[in-house]
Amino acid sequence: MKLGLIGETLGHSLSPAIHQNLFAQLGISGTYDLIEIPREDLGEHIPRLLGVMDGFNVTIPYKTDVIPFLAGLSPEAARIGAVNTVAVRDGKGYGYNTDYLGFSRTLDAIGADPDGRDAVVLGTGGAARAVIQCLFDRGAAYIRVVTRKREAVGGVFRDFADAHGADIITYGELEAGCGAFLLVNATPCGMSPHAGVSPVSERVVRKCHAVVDLIYNPAETELLRMARESGADCANGLLMLASQGAAAEEIWLGRELPADLAPQLAARLEQGA
Ligand code: NAP
Repeated sequence: MKLGLIGETLGHSLSPAIHQNLFAQLGISGTYDLIEIPREDLGEHIPRLLGVMDGFNVTIPYKTDVIPFLAGLSPEAARIGAVNTVAVRDGKGYGYNTDYLGFSRTLDAIGADPDGRDAVVLGTGGAARAVIQCLFDRGAAYIRVVTRKREAVGGVFRDFADAHGADIITYGELEAGCGAFLLVNATPCGMSPHAGVSPVSERVVRKCHAVVDLIYNPAETELLRMARESGADCANGLLMLASQGAAAEEIWLGRELPADLAPQLAARLEQGA
């Protein structure tokens, strides 16, 4: 299988390690290349890639820009408005969002079922959209999205939040109110090299039953350290990263893979294997 990742700058991507790990685990012979494409050349490269690849992942800043080149979208990719996995069939590209699937499987792995519960999502970027869509689809009763500056949140995100019945609040409002069943960090706050800081206080964390941090470097952020100490069910972004990789392989291979594949891969990545 000829696979890869397209993006503008791919320097330290973990994707080749993830997919090579999965190839070895599944006994598949495949290649996974990093393909950097300057923005002005996207229109020339995507049709060419559709002619020679079996599939590819898509990262920043092309998760939305790739859509006009595709023949179809999965329902969740269409609802989120972003694609991170393309499967090529008969020379045509079909787009999926496996961040959504990876997040959903992360919830399952820690037994945090959002159905009928409330959730708080920190951040208003692309990752937050995939998380909100997943929580909404899985029946979350009430979603609050937390921003540093409410006036700066763009109209497109506001419309997306409205369509999902999500309220946009500030960190001050979150700190003043109570916790939630589930707290998800979809911001880079706490990520290396700025580890050791948390986007929310220990007071908020103590009132949450489950905490997912999309960050995977460091493996335990300050937010997750507090959550673990307060006894919450926790997951870091490595499990989501491994799960979105495994979900992409399922799409490319056209078959279901063992459920323990992603947790085992996340553990190997955490050990640097
Ligand atoms: P992004 O667009 O750069 O940032 C998301 C949002 O975070 C921003 O819209 C901003 O919202 C808020 N933010 C930015 N810098 C912040 C800071 N210093 N402190 C507090 N809030 C800040 O990123 P993204 O692509 O959505 O990704 C978000 C995080 O998820 C990143 O850490 C990324 O690495 C991670 N991620 C992980 C996976 C995985 O598989 N594990 C997949 C996708 C993304 P406001 O301005 O409204 O506050």
